[in-house]
Amino acid sequence: MSLATGATTPAVAPAAGSLEAALAAAVPRVHLPGSPAYDELTATMNALVRPTPAAVVEATSADDVARTVRIAGAFGVPVGVMSTGHGTEDTMAGAVVVATRALDDLVVRPAERTARIGAGVRWRDVLAAAAPHGLAGLCGSSPSVGVVGFLTGGGVGPLARSHGLSADHVVSFEVVTGDGQIRHASADSEPDLYWGLRGGKGTLGIVTSVELELVELREVYAGSLWFDEADVPAMLRTWAVWSTLLPDEGTTSAAILRLPPMPDVPPFLTGKTVLQVRFVWTGDPAVGEEMIRAMRGVVTPLADTVALMPYERIGEVHADPDAAMPMRTEHVLLDDLDPAGVERLLDLAGPGSATVQLMVEVRRTGGALERPLRGETAFAARDARWFVFMIGLVLPGTDELVAADARRIVDGLAPIARPGGMPNFVPRYGAEWARQAFPARTAERLAALSRRYDPAGVLLGGRLVRELSPLP
Ligand SMILES: Cc1cc2nc3c(=O)[nH]c(=O)nc-3n(C[C@H](O)[C@H](O)[C@H](O)COP(=O)(O)OP(=O)(O)OC[C@H]3O[C@@H](n4cnc5c(N)ncnc54)[C@H](O)[C@@H]3O)c2cc1C
Repeated sequence: MSLATGATTPAVAPAAGSLEAALAAAVPRVHLPGSPAYDELTATMNALVRPTPAAVVEATSADDVARTVRIAGAFGVPVGVMSTGHGTEDTMAGAVVVATRALDDLVVRPAERTARIGAGVRWRDVLAAAAPHGLAGLCGSSPSVGVVGFLTGGGVGPLARSHGLSADHVVSFEVVTGDGQIRHASADSEPDLYWGLRGGKGTLGIVTSVELELVELREVYAGSLWFDEADVPAMLRTWAVWSTLLPDEGTTSAAILRLPPMPDVPPFLTGKTVLQVRFVWTGDPAVGEEMIRAMRGVVTPLADTVALMPYERIGEVHADPDAAMPMRTEHVLLDDLDPAGVERLLDLAGPGSATVQLMVEVRRTGGALERPLRGETAFAARDARWFVFMIGLVLPGTDELVAADARRIVDGLAPIARPGGMPNFVPRYGAEWARQAFPARTAERLAALSRRYDPAGVLLGGRLVRELSPLP
């Protein structure tokens, strides 16, 4: 699939003729505006975001990516990257986009408990390939998300408290840096890149594949409890206390939801405010059952799906929608969620509040997330104990309203919030994105590495941290 580590691609002639012609001569799949493949590869999960690059290169090898970066660099055109479109916020107007969909190699090595995963692979494929061996990849709430996009943002999933940050399980990356080189980044080879690719998103390179450690896990005791509107305040208060007492084998979150009628959503959950308590227990199921008994016993839930299930079905716990929607998202990190904080949240987003958000969820973090497994990473939110994430559905004419409402909640949480964010959840793009995703010292180190590996500033991701940390 790729050249040997550190190999250089053939030199690119100085820019002459058109960018499109130079790309077409060097790589097999170049898609231009107006073609069906261009439209398909630039589609995103957020119907409000429509990238408009000058060209899309559908990479079939690391060599294609390296050639693309070198050619675009020679023309002075920046390069972005897209996989599934689950997290794309930038329009990348006028840039070249490398689409990774065709980098779909997936090899599970059961004896080594690892998988080699191409940059176009989604989590659901890894779950299916690993399950027959009793192995699991640490995905996020939605298995439709791309493996590499998720891992480069750190990756805080439904096993975060028991198994830690997903990026901690990356053994190595194959990556094309902005100077057009194919490199191998691991603890022993290019350790600075290895640091920055785990949490730094696409700032330092376009990853073409990862070597990922899998964990031994066939089943989890997991699912959701759904509570009716009248019970939301009491159950959120109970959950906030209960979740602080939960051992690290348990990962949990609570989402206040206002669901419109949607396919796959039972009518008894729509048209009102409900609370979904998610629970994943990786220890002894009998102990997990004891743990969740405290939540089950307070009031009768509308629905209860918590049971022993194959890990391969982990996506059913959050049951994230798979269809593209027009949406705005925001999130806030919290150090603490004490009883006063819960009341604050209920006032801002509970039943009877003025909110128009589709979902306001609180994830309990901490546990194994706080303990790096393979040295330090660029993911800087390890010690945040909670985070609040909200999604607003934007119907025609409601964009301002939804954004203002999200701002109201963010401002209302400010007294209990801490600075920073989870790189995978920071919505805006540009230097503002980098400011929220990375503390100043992390951004400075990423910017310095970007200048080393991408002297001409070809990669869009690197430009964002460089803007934030300009040279004196
Ligand atoms: C329904 C849903 C559920 C989610 N749940 C979680 C969750 O539980 N935990 C969590 O941590 N995140 C979660 N996320 C966020 C998700 O991890 C990010 O949006 C992630 O960036 C998506 O990656 P992608 O490749 O699928 O998307 P894309 O939109 O294709 O890519 C998004 C970004 O990922 C980076 N990227 C993608 N491919 C590469 C590459 N080859 N090299 C370098 N950088 C690359 C780039 O910065 C790119 O802009 C969720 C998102 C959605 C939509």
